[in-house]
Amino acid sequence: MDEFGLIARYFTRSPRGSLVLLGVGDDAALVAPLQAGSAYALTTDTLVAGVHFLSDAPGFDVGYKALAVNVSDLAAMGARPVGFLLNLSLPTLDEAWLARFRDGLFALADTLALDLIGGDTVRGPLAVTVTALGEVPAESALRRDGARVGDRIYVTGFLGEAALGFFLRAGRLELPEAFHEQVLGRLDRPIPRIIEGQALRGVASAAIDISDGLVADLGHILKASGVGASVDLHRLPFSDAYDAAFAQVGFEAALSFGDDYELCFTVAPDRVEALNGFMSRFPCACHYIGDITADTGLTLFDGAAPYTPQGLGFNHFHE
Ligand code: ADP
Ligand code: MG
Repeated sequence: MDEFGLIARYFTRSPRGSLVLLGVGDDAALVAPLQAGSAYALTTDTLVAGVHFLSDAPGFDVGYKALAVNVSDLAAMGARPVGFLLNLSLPTLDEAWLARFRDGLFALADTLALDLIGGDTVRGPLAVTVTALGEVPAESALRRDGARVGDRIYVTGFLGEAALGFFLRAGRLELPEAFHEQVLGRLDRPIPRIIEGQALRGVASAAIDISDGLVADLGHILKASGVGASVDLHRLPFSDAYDAAFAQVGFEAALSFGDDYELCFTVAPDRVEALNGFMSRFPCACHYIGDITADTGLTLFDGAAPYTPQGLGFNHFHE
């Protein structure tokens, strides 16, 4: 089977979204223009075997996560996902692996009604790049630079479970058997907070998805907005699994690891009531964790005592 056979067999389906006029198979995809006032949101992320996932990771999880991390970026902008491009670098033509990869990719694409509209396929070290396309009202896109002094800081879901999955798999964490599936699932198949992101348009003043840990990602909001923050560690949302691991990981797994793909967002005091009005209908709970301050930098409190994170944050170019 050559490259074209591979594309035809695994990655060609007719597009269903109304904006996609022409999908896989021509020299380029065609996407319809948007209504006035709407903007395209575009984002891309690469996962490299041995760096972002284990070389022997199940194909299903690699396909799912490659799309999930991109859709999470769309969620963090408040965008509605429309379609995506898929660039594959494959060392061999392993059809069994490709079928599972395709299944994982389309499992998530189908729940979001997201069309694969094109891509590229080359021979090389195993790596997957997804470029996702979304749509968002330009004026209410959730940006990093909108946080203001006095805004409240929230996060969706629970923090730190992906870190637990990572450390468990690496044999560096002891956790009751009952939690294994839960934390490994959170690492391998994160749920992009698409519904929450769109609901937060017009309510959140700033937002980001947590890919590198709360400290690093909230830090991006603070820097872009020119403000600081104070966060109460006792307000961080921990699952039952995290509670069981707390003696081993403390606050660090929640603060400094990342891979949770939850949203961290800020809300002005006069929008808190609006948030409370619909937050309970979110698929996952939101938690208030701290406040935006005029003093720049992030101050963490463990009770009354300031807390200095030890920093497991993942930065490729950090020496
Ligand atoms: P070209 O040589 O014109 O750049 P390609 O041979 O790279 O075209 O691709 C042929 C068609 O298949 C294009 O529509 C391209 O978008 C699509 N395609 C290639 N690789 C993939 C892939 N991994 N997933 C989805 N579509 C792909
Ligand atoms: Mg061409």
